[in-house]
Amino acid sequence: MSEKTCKYCAMQIPEKASVCPYCRKKVPLQITIKTSNPERPMDILKDYSGLLIVIFLCLFALFYFQLREPESKNIESQEENTSSASTPTSHRPKTPSTGESGILHCGMEYVPMAVTEEAFKAWIRADVAGDRQGKVALFESRQIFFANENARALVIERGVLKSRVRIQSGMAEGSAGWVPNEWIQPL
Ligand SMILES: [Zn+2]
Repeated sequence: MSEKTCKYCAMQIPEKASVCPYCRKKVPLQITIKTSNPERPMDILKDYSGLLIVIFLCLFALFYFQLREPESKNIESQEENTSSASTPTSHRPKTPSTGESGILHCGMEYVPMAVTEEAFKAWIRADVAGDRQGKVALFESRQIFFANENARALVIERGVLKSRVRIQSGMAEGSAGWVPNEWIQPL
């Protein structure tokens, strides 16, 4: 039979005793809940270690991207600075509205321009699919033509994602075509 220690006289007494046989004092009935597994706390750690790793990775990713984002913004603003020194670096330039002129800028040597909205969609589809031949076919059938990078362009129809512009300088001067809005930067 297991024993307990009397808190009054410090003698070893039967666990189930309510009165100490030595000092005759009432001892509270000890309800001992024996843990079935003494290594339980370690097991809990093991159970949650996967979760802890996930949380750690999430936090890491969060910090990583928060650190990365300002970097890419800096690069962007540097590019803006080199293209137009007057542009404030704090906010993204707005696409010019209908009747306003902007500068075409797509990051390539030439800016592809679509003659019709259908040609624009076909060009985007070919671009997304990596269909080089499809792009060449659109150019050869004159549905796509090229303007110079950094050509001046007047917005003649401003859409939500794309706009129709008339080229005002360079090799395609006088021609009108559709380009994504983000390619038209303010003067
Ligand atoms: Zn006692």
